[in-house]
Amino acid sequence: MTASSAICSVSRTLDIVADPWTFLVLREAWFGVRRFEEFRRLLGMPRGTLSARLAHLCGNDMLCRRRYQTNPDRSEYRLTPKSADLYPSMLVLMHWGDRWRAESSGPPLLLRHNVCAHQCHADVVCSECREPVPIVSVRYGPGPGAGFESVAPLPRMRRSSKPENFLRHRDCSVARTMQIVGDRWTYLIMREAYFGEHRFHRVQHNLGISANTLSNRLHRLCKEGIFERRSYSLNPKRFEYRFTEKGRELYAAMIALMRWGDRWLAGDAGAPLRLRHRKCGHDFHALVVCSECRAPIQMGEMSYKHRSGVQSRDDESTAKAGDNAEQLAAGEA
Ligand SMILES: [Zn+2]
Ligand SMILES: [Zn+2]
Repeated sequence: MTASSAICSVSRTLDIVADPWTFLVLREAWFGVRRFEEFRRLLGMPRGTLSARLAHLCGNDMLCRRRYQTNPDRSEYRLTPKSADLYPSMLVLMHWGDRWRAESSGPPLLLRHNVCAHQCHADVVCSECREPVPIVSVRYGPGPGAGFESVAPLPRMRRSSKPENFLRHRDCSVARTMQIVGDRWTYLIMREAYFGEHRFHRVQHNLGISANTLSNRLHRLCKEGIFERRSYSLNPKRFEYRFTEKGRELYAAMIALMRWGDRWLAGDAGAPLRLRHRKCGHDFHALVVCSECRAPIQMGEMSYKHRSGVQSRDDESTAKAGDNAEQLAAGEA
């Protein structure tokens, strides 16, 4: 089924990174992995699958291939400015996953901001006034790149990935979050709710989605505690779907991903959507900052500590995360 939907930078972003294998390759690259065999060993991926994902990431300018040895020829894969710029948004997804989807043992990774030397998490603020931007404080308008595009089927590569693959190799709160928002219809349904559409038939009409698919995704979103179902009519029986606190908090990650998509995927057309912060009255974009010193977070400024304090051999690559990143001593947790 082909549907059309408002052009959206988050949707474009998820089209690139929400495939579980693609996401995992990129995540390991953020952790400092560069070589084919290392990706393969860490992720247990078949060679062909890994080659396809690396090609996909290179084709989207998320990785670039550099030869580091001749005879025999060997190449490694490096982050680009585009993929490095996505990293702060991933920390926002991580924070949400830590808060809402971590197991009873707590967040798998503790983050430290090397600039201020505090343990921290990523927060999202208004680029203009630097205040938080909860969902109710944002008004929308069409941006220069507004319009509609078809929700075309994704390439086959995508469908061969199973959501459970997200949890390979590392216990990771970003992966847990992607398990929910990485599904395209799920994301589009949540987006309708961010825009104030809470009713089944309205969402179905706006997205051109089949009733079956919509029911299935709504059921899952309720089960995950993102939406709650409320009755608004008894005769006939009708329900609407409202965000829970857990769902509302995911908004920060959405506007962080939107900012990245606006910057890197919107092209000359410009941002499809304009966000205005009611509190300060300015058009704004999401800015990812350190929860402690409130400075914007950049790739390479973070170090990690595993909560368990155990560094497995597979996590050697962690030490390479970011050229300036300092690896915290293991075993403190
Ligand atoms: Zn503001
Ligand atoms: Zn800081």
